[in-house]
Amino acid sequence: MAQDCLFCKIIAGEIPSSKVYEDEHVLAFRDINPLAPVHVLVIPKRHLASVAELDPADPLLGHLMAAVQKVAAETGLTGSGYRVVTNAGKDSGQVVFHLHLHLLGGQTLGPIA
Ligand code: 5GP
Ligand code: ZN
Repeated sequence: MAQDCLFCKIIAGEIPSSKVYEDEHVLAFRDINPLAPVHVLVIPKRHLASVAELDPADPLLGHLMAAVQKVAAETGLTGSGYRVVTNAGKDSGQVVFHLHLHLLGGQTLGPIA
């Protein structure tokens, strides 16, 4: 657990969240400020600041994508479609420096910036 990391505190249960999925490697919970009818954050339990720190050969990448697909199914998005986006670093507007995938859906989404 990284010191003063909001999402590490959510993983530890020190800060409440609306959990939608959890397994050994991954936690998924609803974004506190949803930008679509379904807006879920899928995060690794291991602290990494962003996708820039993720080794492409790390099995964690597959665990994260498997969780995205499960959450998409559980939240009814499989047929209608969804967007997966992750911010990394200053120009992206990243605010929380614990790797997270935004899963967005439930409406027709606008173009990506
Ligand atoms: P970023 O801009 O870093 O990619 O996104 C961070 C996301 O975390 C934002 O969409 C924001 O609404 C969400 N967020 C920030 N604080 C909390 C919190 O305490 N609980 C939850 N569930 N989401 C949060
Ligand atoms: Zn963290």
